[in-house]
Amino acid sequence: MNETTFLRLADVPVAGKRVFIRADLNVPQDDSGRITDDTRIRASLPAIEDALGRGAAVMITSHLGRPKEGVLTEADSLAPIAERLGALLQREVRLIRDWVNGGEWHASLTSGDLVLLENCRVNRGEKSDDTALAQQMANLCDVYCNDAFGTAHRAEATTHAMARYAPIACAGPLLAAELDALGKALGRPQRPLVAIVAGAKVSTKLTLLRTLLDKVDTLIVGGGIANTFLLAAGGRIGRSLAEADLAGEAHALLDVARDKIPLPVDVVCAKRFAADAEAVVKPVTEVADDDLILDVGPRTASANAELLAQAGTIVWNGPIGVFEFDAFSAGTRALAEAIAASPAFSIAGGGDTLAAIEKFGVASRLGYISTGGGAFLEFLEGRTLPAVAVLEERAREMRDRPTAR
Ligand code: ADP
Ligand code: MG
Repeated sequence: MNETTFLRLADVPVAGKRVFIRADLNVPQDDSGRITDDTRIRASLPAIEDALGRGAAVMITSHLGRPKEGVLTEADSLAPIAERLGALLQREVRLIRDWVNGGEWHASLTSGDLVLLENCRVNRGEKSDDTALAQQMANLCDVYCNDAFGTAHRAEATTHAMARYAPIACAGPLLAAELDALGKALGRPQRPLVAIVAGAKVSTKLTLLRTLLDKVDTLIVGGGIANTFLLAAGGRIGRSLAEADLAGEAHALLDVARDKIPLPVDVVCAKRFAADAEAVVKPVTEVADDDLILDVGPRTASANAELLAQAGTIVWNGPIGVFEFDAFSAGTRALAEAIAASPAFSIAGGGDTLAAIEKFGVASRLGYISTGGGAFLEFLEGRTLPAVAVLEERAREMRDRPTAR
């Protein structure tokens, strides 16, 4: 899994070529359309700068929001992104509407040019991975480059079918870095491999729990997920967040791998779900009927820290307590710090996990932080990411028939 199985932009000669980059520029905006966080735009710069620097003409596109196919509303327009991209690159970035069939803008593209192509999800056939649309778009370029890991789990025309028809199809540096890090963590991991799967619900992470359990040496569960496991193990969890209907599933996992799944020995409880609720530390055996478990206790936190200090590889998804409330954030903070302090290669991802990493200031001390969200979870679940599979297919084809095309 961690061998080079796809072509990389850096290895493609692009001077004088038209390079089409499918990026993820889907940034959050406020009601007036102002960009509230431009991380994704900044993360997309290396691919653009590399291609431009080597003399390519660059077209870049992305989805934004959830537009209706066939209609471009102002709210769905990439106009604010063109502006921000221009500011970051200190040049004007022309935004092209109705670009699928090319036109004057395309005919006049030359080395060093950069244009932004409007929201690709507005094109009819994008979501359904339509062949005709993909072929039209592929005709616009000499090199297709996918640099959007966040949409790699979706087969859409710009993420999947287009890669099949472009003369050359490769991965951009951002996509390649994600795949390298994930491959390193799960392909041939340094052992012991310790995974933390925590957060709100077992139901959203059941496949993840099952798949990881096969691969890991230790699976630390936390949050609502740990509560469901405690319930399955015959414990009492009071009014804590849990999914009683999934206790059977949790029980089955404990049956096959009880020694791999350490459960909390102490917890922090409250009588109400509130930031100012009184926090009481107690052994897990003393949880009262009206208690809410909102964090792990200090003994559990240090047991976790010890496991993490010994690990060779760490995969982290999900906060192990209600870290948004300071009184119940100690467990997640200790976990984040233990991962940061561990010599293990670590990879973390997930919406709320990223917020926790930010809150506890450990980002720079983790091995890799995935920006993938859904794609990150699907990769961990062992699923094939269609956008990656097609790049691998093209690379195989090139190896087997190097003179074709
Ligand atoms: P991610 O987005 O990283 O995948 P999830 O969305 O699965 O994570 O879960 C994160 C949420 O779980 C957080 O908002 C956190 O407050 C909540 N949570 C964690 N532990 C508990 C708990 N014991 N009780 C209730 N909510 C919890
Ligand atoms: Mg979440």
